[in-house]
Amino acid sequence: MKKINKEKLPALWERLADEAALYLPVEEDGVVNFAPWKEGAAVNLDVINTMVPPKHLVFPQSENYLRFHVEGSKLEIEPLDVDGPYVVFGARPCDVAGIAIIDKLFLDEPCDTLYKERRDNGTIISLGCNEPEETCFCTSFDLEPGFSPDADISTWDLGEYLLWEPRNEKGQALTAKLDDLLEAADSGAAQAVEKLRQDAASREAAVVREHGWEVQGVKEALEDKFDSEIWDEIYRRCLGCGVCTYLCPTCHCFDVQDYSKGQEGLRFRCWDSCMFGDFTLMAHGENPRPTQKERVRQRFMHKLLYYPSNFEVYACVGCGRCVRKCPVSIDITQVIKAAGGVE
Ligand code: SF4
Ligand code: SF4
Repeated sequence: MKKINKEKLPALWERLADEAALYLPVEEDGVVNFAPWKEGAAVNLDVINTMVPPKHLVFPQSENYLRFHVEGSKLEIEPLDVDGPYVVFGARPCDVAGIAIIDKLFLDEPCDTLYKERRDNGTIISLGCNEPEETCFCTSFDLEPGFSPDADISTWDLGEYLLWEPRNEKGQALTAKLDDLLEAADSGAAQAVEKLRQDAASREAAVVREHGWEVQGVKEALEDKFDSEIWDEIYRRCLGCGVCTYLCPTCHCFDVQDYSKGQEGLRFRCWDSCMFGDFTLMAHGENPRPTQKERVRQRFMHKLLYYPSNFEVYACVGCGRCVRKCPVSIDITQVIKAAGGVE
């Protein structure tokens, strides 16, 4: 295990930015989001949840992926390059877990090569949470606020220092290039990390217990709830704004569209949302989810029943963003409670 004095962080960021595009939590107009690093950027490593999770760095909100040219009956297609190497610094464990959940879908056969290329180009450096937020519930999904097993490098905030642990070959390769900025951590570092992890996990678990609900058994409980009256109540306030899906680190629905002018055009894919009325609208006008009730049910059933049935993992990491940001307070923890997963 290594460590870096926080006074050296600007030098570290400068070095990382020389190697690759560097993204980290930057505060702008009071909002913290992952943004490209530049000298003097207001980096904020204290915020737990950025407004938008860093999923857009592996799965952009909108990306052009081919150019086409039409000449009479001839069609020429030119694939566009994916952005080069990048480093994500300071991703929280829930957001890294969110990316690992999306990986299961996109990297499984048939593999999404566009996603894979971008994913391979990235190195993720996580930052453990010492003090989870009131709305965090990652421990409910067997995750830890203080640890990111899927990151390439894990770091922990120990006050004066960040502890630094490469977790795979990619992480080791990057760490080797930073040797002059890092120093060996002393023998107590592993115990210090262990204590941080345990303290953060038990603080968060205590808050979840206070709220009186459990994820355990919710998948099984939802198996016969497709026609349940619980949806009649839950959906009523929904505005169909899509905020919950756009801010969710695991939501990954997308649309593919063409933008063309004359004989030239670009094909792009962009985030979509199951909460939008036209999400499943078919060309002949049929819509299998005609009202907001079916859409809200789909969102929660997908996260808590369909995804775990296919990939053996819930499609929620308990980041709490949708709980905080839904304008009408539709809360996934209340859905879990209403579904009756508590044992
Ligand atoms: S954020 Fe709330 S109101 Fe907006 S689509 Fe999601 S559940 Fe509905
Ligand atoms: S469903 Fe809500 S709490 Fe769960 S990962 Fe998505 S935004 Fe976070």
